[in-house]
Amino acid sequence: MRCLRCGLCCKDTKMELSNNDIRRIVKLGYNPRGFLVIRDGIPYLRNINGYCYFHDKDSRRCRIYRYRPLGCRVYPVIYIQDVDFTIDKLCPMHYTVSIDELIRKSLILMNLIKRIEKERIIRLRYVYYNFYNKHSILEN
Ligand code: SF4
Repeated sequence: MRCLRCGLCCKDTKMELSNNDIRRIVKLGYNPRGFLVIRDGIPYLRNINGYCYFHDKDSRRCRIYRYRPLGCRVYPVIYIQDVDFTIDKLCPMHYTVSIDELIRKSLILMNLIKRIEKERIIRLRYVYYNFYNKHSILEN
């Protein structure tokens, strides 16, 4: 596909992150407390002033482009819950995504979604385990 670097996909991002994404970004020296937020066990890229934490407004570029999350790499291919994999029409260059690219990126996205869900369950179990463990210690 072709990209205009319009930055629309970096606006109010709801991009989910896998543990691999987080590890890769942390290795660059970024603190996860800065660039991510966790909601219901899922890490998301944080927004600052309405844009992704890593979006550089002046250059309209991603500051970690080579290391960006997998979900950003497959964009504008997205998954709409209970519908299907599709191309996000919000992207002005959506029409430049070929069928081959749509199929290839849909497969990558499908695996990514499964991985993030697995990691979410493990993360929540860990949180609940620690909570109940601490609670039972307090009761004794
Ligand atoms: S919305 Fe599309 S054209 Fe604009 S920066 Fe994102 S991928 Fe590129």
